[in-house]
Amino acid sequence: MDIPRIFNVSESAHRIHNPFTPEKLATLGAALRLESGTRVLDLGSGSGELLCTWARDHGVVGTGVDLSELFTEQARRRAEGLGVADRVEFIHGDAAGFVSDEKAGVAACLGATWIGGGVAGTIGLLAQSLRPGGIILVGEPYWRKLPPTEEVARGCLAGSVSDFLLLPDLLASFGRLGYDVVEMVLADQDSWDRYEAAKWLTMRRWLEDNPDDELASDVRARLTSEPGRYAACTREYLGWGVFALMAR
Ligand code: SAH
Repeated sequence: MDIPRIFNVSESAHRIHNPFTPEKLATLGAALRLESGTRVLDLGSGSGELLCTWARDHGVVGTGVDLSELFTEQARRRAEGLGVADRVEFIHGDAAGFVSDEKAGVAACLGATWIGGGVAGTIGLLAQSLRPGGIILVGEPYWRKLPPTEEVARGCLAGSVSDFLLLPDLLASFGRLGYDVVEMVLADQDSWDRYEAAKWLTMRRWLEDNPDDELASDVRARLTSEPGRYAACTREYLGWGVFALMAR
């Protein structure tokens, strides 16, 4: 059981699999005023950068669950490297339906809300692992500007314009679910570049090392088309942010 291999190829060198820089992740950790010993649950934890760096910087403890075996292995190595392996654990598996026995002060899902069938379902899932008064973190795209056509929306790798909301509408939607938005940190075009453009060099190097791989023609096609697609669509129209929520 794993994610489609293309992601393990194109994002193998990423520590953060989202349009966030290390600085933005650190800003978010500081913004939450985390107390040492706070338990953090991270569904779709990727290569574990949130848990590992917040364990180092704020003394949190916690668990990450991710479907990619490669990313989970990278997360465990990162925890060793930062000297926090006794504070954080990484489980390889499907996070759909995952509820932790020990309730968390922070329950997060950054850039993987399909795990709970969408934003509302993921908030509901995370809430089951949260102690009273805890904070839910959701990382989710929104439209910076509404795409003028459905074709542009698909160029942003959305299924349709209706897949995402404008930022004020996304914030209002959290209220309708019964949550206060108590903090947020947003991506910007430069942090998007760190996520998207970093894939291109990874793909180029991978192609040089794996010319006969069954994915080579797919990776070649992506490397050719991705910079143009990204610049024309995602970079212009798609925002992304992490929203901190507390139940009203
Ligand atoms: N939150 C991480 C990773 C975001 S990318 C970060 O910000 O760096 C989305 C992640 O979701 C990937 O690591 C992918 O492997 C993971 N994923 C996808 N489907 C999943 C599922 N059903 N259960 C757990 N993880 C999943």
